[in-house]
Amino acid sequence: MNETPNTSTVVVTDTVRVRMAPSPTGFLHIGGARTALFNWLFAKHHNGTFILRIDDTDMARSTDESMHEIYTALQWLGLAWDEGGDKGGPYGPYVQSERKPIYDAYVTQLLETGNAYHCYCTPEELEEIRAQARADKQTRSYDGRCRELTSEAVNGFTAEGRKPTVRIKMPDTPILVDDLVLGSRNIDPATLEDEVIVRSNGMPNYNLTSIIDDAEMQITHVIRGTEHLNNTPKQIAIAHALGLEVPQFAHIPLVLDSSGRKMSKRHHGDLVAVNRYREQGYLPEAVLNFVARLGWSYDDKQEIFSVDELIEKFDLERVGKSGSVFDIKKLEWLNSHYINQLSISARTDAVIPFWQAEGLINSIEKRDWLENIVEAVGERLTTFQDIIPQTRYFFTDAFEYEPKAVKKWWGGSEEKREKTSEILTNLLQILEEVPSFDVETVETAIWKYTDENDIKRVAAMQALRIALTGTSFGPSLFDIVALLGRDEVLKRIPRAIAHL
Ligand code: GLU
Repeated sequence: MNETPNTSTVVVTDTVRVRMAPSPTGFLHIGGARTALFNWLFAKHHNGTFILRIDDTDMARSTDESMHEIYTALQWLGLAWDEGGDKGGPYGPYVQSERKPIYDAYVTQLLETGNAYHCYCTPEELEEIRAQARADKQTRSYDGRCRELTSEAVNGFTAEGRKPTVRIKMPDTPILVDDLVLGSRNIDPATLEDEVIVRSNGMPNYNLTSIIDDAEMQITHVIRGTEHLNNTPKQIAIAHALGLEVPQFAHIPLVLDSSGRKMSKRHHGDLVAVNRYREQGYLPEAVLNFVARLGWSYDDKQEIFSVDELIEKFDLERVGKSGSVFDIKKLEWLNSHYINQLSISARTDAVIPFWQAEGLINSIEKRDWLENIVEAVGERLTTFQDIIPQTRYFFTDAFEYEPKAVKKWWGGSEEKREKTSEILTNLLQILEEVPSFDVETVETAIWKYTDENDIKRVAAMQALRIALTGTSFGPSLFDIVALLGRDEVLKRIPRAIAHL
């Protein structure tokens, strides 16, 4: 993003307290990881506190499973929280479903001060009101008709068995939303309707619980996605009605795909799920680096940031106003960068679970051999999962010969295939006879054969490579020969000759 820093300046006077407040209704979304990261970085940068609050008042959609998945994903990313979640802290409980008495007390206060009222409209009546508002081209769809109900009307509704909701009275004066990313805006009260803050089943709604908790938990800055921008004036109105401190807001831009559509579970499937990246062998450092750059940039050039550098450099001034584009190629590039930074031993540790899950190894007895394989693969891994297609043939000879490779290097014509068969037969004999099976000995023997017989080196190499691995790509052929070992090589060549 190539934008000038924002004009509103972030003034940090108090100890920073920020929070991430996921609703446990699914996996951790890449946008959620970004919200967590920006909050965490902001807290770390200012020596503040990062809080994890669980917004689970939507009981029907919230699950424990999702909550634990979110914990695991954040832990994998290394975004440890100081308070909240399963950790507790001085302002707990941090799970909203356990805080109902707190919200109830605030609702009572709002009702008693005349800032909120019971609304008895049925869903059918509300639909009619909405239809009328649409016809009148009104921006707010509820007309506030229950604001001044007589006690007879209330008794009548109660006798009918109607269960009321609670609505907050929106003020008549503009609401100032001062956003650290987007700047300040005055919201015309005519665009805001009296929001339902408690459902007819007695459960409080997000806008109420969120701002109450932000105040109760002494949150200084609310950093969240722009999808919540419309909620902010409502939350400010509730805070004012309750006399609560209003935090500073910073809304961060949406994460978009390359065609400008919001990245979502519905349209992009597991591409937005943080767990997917863990499962496929991405490094948390790469995901964090990638996510940091979704909406934030330090300058026009720098792409690679260590976590420490992010903590040092992160600020809200450099968060862009417009949507940021999710480019999986960039994540892949970052991931291979971070993989290549790891020692062979660390890379081996990381790929072993993938080999195990694929059933290619069940013990790690031959650790040195495994490390040598990883070393031979070199810088070819984009993800750890790539180790499977790139090394399967080291563990099993149950592979097919790739048709394209066969056609190109073994030959399309009868005559060419006979020639290949002859080369492989000769190589077999040479490899049976070499005194030892190390890289140098094998290499010298093979080159001696090709050069003395006027055979193109590449032709012989590729013919042998396909015989041993089924493909025409991969690590150095001599590494492969040495790592497979004599017995395996002498078994695979005759199988290829038979195939030819
Ligand atoms: N529970 C909301 C969400 O998951 C939190 C929004 C907020 O940060 O206030 O989107």
